[in-house]
Amino acid sequence: MKSKADLSGLIAACRAGAVEGDEASAEPVSNALTIDFEDWYQGLTSTSRRPQEWARFERRIQNAGMWLLATLAQYRVQATFFIVGEVAREHPDLVRAIAAQGHTIGLHGDMHRRVDSMNRSEFAADIRANIAAVEKASGVVPRCFRAPCFSIGKRTPWLWEELAEAGVSVDSRVFPIRSLLYVLPGAPLQP
Ligand SMILES: [Zn+2]
Repeated sequence: MKSKADLSGLIAACRAGAVEGDEASAEPVSNALTIDFEDWYQGLTSTSRRPQEWARFERRIQNAGMWLLATLAQYRVQATFFIVGEVAREHPDLVRAIAAQGHTIGLHGDMHRRVDSMNRSEFAADIRANIAAVEKASGVVPRCFRAPCFSIGKRTPWLWEELAEAGVSVDSRVFPIRSLLYVLPGAPLQP
């Protein structure tokens, strides 16, 4: 693990377009930072599928989110935040702060449900609730989406049409590899 001092150097090097072991490279490197903005019990935990239990869990996203925003501001880094609708409803001030800092506002499901666990009409309702919650908190109409757990594939052929109908024009889910979470091998290698 890198020390804080090492990390500062690495960030400076990345900003300058050079990375460790690549000092001689003349080509500047563009890096994109994206963040799935969810609390711990909504993510890759067994509790993600039991929202009826969420009320009893400690909220950690407020402190973590404020630290994250301060750190990004310190290093003048802009990111894209994919925000869960429930987080926007519970922490509107935090989501407003993300937008005020100039980060791109995106969507990450209303209750962090896997897209492939919903039928088409359930997803249509979910994405609209997600948009409404995030827009109300941030004042920004979100146009980009990342599926919770990257959970789209052959079982969700309707997804692109539903996203377009909801006004979403950017999807951040497709990876051209096969793994536990990413299942669209053969997808284009470029955005
Ligand atoms: Zn997530």
